[in-house]
Amino acid sequence: MTPARQRQKAARPECRRAKRIVVKVGSSTLADGGDVRGRVVSELCRQIAALQDDGREVVLVSSGAIAVGSHKLGWEQPGRTIPTLQAAAAVGQIGLMQLYQRRFERLGRAVGQVLVTRVGLEDRGRFLNARHCLLELLRLGALPIVNENDTVATDEIRFGDNDNLSATVVNLVAADLLVILTDVEGLHEARPPKSGPLPPLIPVVDRLTPEIERAASGSHTDFGRGGMTTKLEAVRSAAHSGAATVVCRGNRRDVLLDVAAGEPVGTLFRSGEKLASRKHWLAYTARTRGTLVVDPGAARALVDRGRSLLPAGVVDVQGRFDVGDAVACVEPGGRELARGLVAYSAAEVTRIQGRPTREIARVLGYSNGDEVIHRNDLVLVEPP
Ligand code: GLU
Repeated sequence: MTPARQRQKAARPECRRAKRIVVKVGSSTLADGGDVRGRVVSELCRQIAALQDDGREVVLVSSGAIAVGSHKLGWEQPGRTIPTLQAAAAVGQIGLMQLYQRRFERLGRAVGQVLVTRVGLEDRGRFLNARHCLLELLRLGALPIVNENDTVATDEIRFGDNDNLSATVVNLVAADLLVILTDVEGLHEARPPKSGPLPPLIPVVDRLTPEIERAASGSHTDFGRGGMTTKLEAVRSAAHSGAATVVCRGNRRDVLLDVAAGEPVGTLFRSGEKLASRKHWLAYTARTRGTLVVDPGAARALVDRGRSLLPAGVVDVQGRFDVGDAVACVEPGGRELARGLVAYSAAEVTRIQGRPTREIARVLGYSNGDEVIHRNDLVLVEPP
């Protein structure tokens, strides 16, 4: 190996060392207008098996249910209405899993299908349930293959794109690396033109900056939903789980093996400051049931001084929420500052808002503690 090659390899230690890897494969890689590319699936399975043999644990997040189902149903385009998408997914998901199962059976290994919904994972109990299932499959040496349960998903409640779903899976299993296999080489320095040479590829991104966000451009295809923008959302979420992400072309030979060997493939996004898993869930997965508007003093206490939210700092209560629900904390202008799990219901906070802590028990007749949101149950929201 040349010294230059060695240096490049050394530049991606997080990939070489990754023990637990989430691999996300998009519809545009797996299928051509809904027609499954058998060779791509075989290559993917061969490489995943090789990674398992190398002692890595892999979770596969596979799109393609809607694309494959639409094709099987003889449609030229995927359906547009929710019921047609649901029906296509119902037909396609079986076909997809059959493909994986056959390939892995030949390799002497088991696969397990895990279908999740956004609403399900918003619930902390069900989120932990999904985690237990995935970890057990990994312990058994079976490959978990995850997709959204598109048969019951509607627009308001769906993940919609498997990029964001794959980042949630990263938090579920505490993966070290997310590999997003797609139909582009990675992130280019500028939006790729319709024709002509591509702008240079960005090999490594240390931090998501506004310039990087601008460089991300849509690469939408008919059947796959996520462009580069949803990939960056996934990158941000994975980074807060302490995982690096590689976005790369899925049909490149040995792509997964090269990524895992630390080769300079696609664009590597380094991991960021790791949030505890529960805080990550709160920031990225939980659905907020209401909003607390806080005064400037409380805003500073939360953001700059790492404090809890006390009743005195609350100026308005919006929505209906119960003890333990997730709520957003916003400043009077409406900008979201933090999310947290409340110790009091909306009705209770309305009664104690603006009051000193010592009055809680007198006003309510009981106290759940001094804080409306305890610091341990609070996570700051990064400015966009
Ligand atoms: N869950 C969708 C499917 O399997 C894919 C969503 C996406 O393309 O990101 O068809």
